[in-house]
Amino acid sequence: MQAQKKKMSLTGRVILGMVLGILTGFIIRSLFAESSFVHEYIVNGLFEVGGAIFIASLKMLVVPLVFVSLVCGTSTLKDISTLGRLGGKTLAFYLTTTAIAITLALVMGNVFKPGAGADLSAATTFASREAPSLGQVIIDMFPTNPISSMANGNTLQIIVFAILFGIAISAAGKPGERIAGIFADLNEVIMKLVALLMNIAPFGVFFLMAKLFTGLGLDAIFNLFGYFLVLTCTLLLHGIVVYGSLFKIFTGLSPKLFLKKMEDAIMFAFSTASSNATIPVTMETATKRLGVKNRIASFTVPLGATINMDGTAIMQGVATAFIAQAFNIDLTMGDYLMVIATATLASIGTAGVPGVGLIMLAMVLNQVGLPVEGIAIIMGVDRLLDMIRTAVNITGDSCVTCIVAKSEGEMDIDRFNDPHAGEKEEEVHLHPISNS
Ligand code: ASP
Repeated sequence: MQAQKKKMSLTGRVILGMVLGILTGFIIRSLFAESSFVHEYIVNGLFEVGGAIFIASLKMLVVPLVFVSLVCGTSTLKDISTLGRLGGKTLAFYLTTTAIAITLALVMGNVFKPGAGADLSAATTFASREAPSLGQVIIDMFPTNPISSMANGNTLQIIVFAILFGIAISAAGKPGERIAGIFADLNEVIMKLVALLMNIAPFGVFFLMAKLFTGLGLDAIFNLFGYFLVLTCTLLLHGIVVYGSLFKIFTGLSPKLFLKKMEDAIMFAFSTASSNATIPVTMETATKRLGVKNRIASFTVPLGATINMDGTAIMQGVATAFIAQAFNIDLTMGDYLMVIATATLASIGTAGVPGVGLIMLAMVLNQVGLPVEGIAIIMGVDRLLDMIRTAVNITGDSCVTCIVAKSEGEMDIDRFNDPHAGEKEEEVHLHPISNS
């Protein structure tokens, strides 16, 4: 009799990969700290290569997926006014949730005062940048050469081009229909590629975590424990309570089920620290598990990964309060409003990649005259926090995606309510194309 082997779900395997990776990292740190063989061949060899391949395979999908799925989405819209309404609603939700996030962070930072009496001895220099002007941000959204936008992975420019291309397809009659058919097929194939590559995720996550935790200095966390704790609690508060309430109020559906279904995407965001690299998984989750129609998700998910970074905004709020307290500088109400405006603006047009939040923080600090050197103090703990805030960032994108989809009648409620909907394919079956 054939033994029935019960396979673990993909989510279970990714969690296992993550836990084993973290443990391996700790074991290497404590037992093999001196072994150059382990560091050279295992940590900087196997783990580094395995993790890099995993990230590359996710990033590889982003540009084709965003372009093809958005062309599909826009070409099926009934009229252009739908697009305007959709865009307006999405932007309004993204900007409002970011403003709520940073306000919450400033309140938490001022109530718990993590920077009071902080040790500034670690301060060194940190190169800062200017905040871009609103005009420049808008100009930069328009591609002069769509191929170079794709080559550079400029998501906002790809979005603009894909929308125009999709509109032209639906306006072009018969030729448009033929092209739309090709794009619909291409979209299916790319989604299959996403499902296929997700099978390597448990290994990829293991390699990333093992490498990271081998080198992660935990002493930095002890020194900045107040900052770490206030920030993590604010991120959790926003991710669970704020999103949960917004989700319930605007969709009337279960926030618990929403968060449960987000777990794969959250884990990907956590281990890659990049909303951008997580786009394929967020898209798959939104369409296959949460029941959002591609026509909405193909627009809101990549847009959110680029302009909506609530977790990052929270970090900036807490960090601003922390640095002001650590340097004994009082901020006025006007300064706080400036922080909210700059952080929201700076997040637009900055792709969701690891560590970008710190660069944006430099812009925020500059605007209110706080010492940018403060960033050097918090840099030591930023990687772990980056992982957590990226998970919040993509949860926010998905929450707004569901809200917008539900309000447009573009959400499959049965699919949402089915706890097993869209659970990952465990095996890939090939159907060779015959030439006859
Ligand atoms: N890593 C974050 C993201 O990709 C951005 C940041 O806060 O650094 O969403």
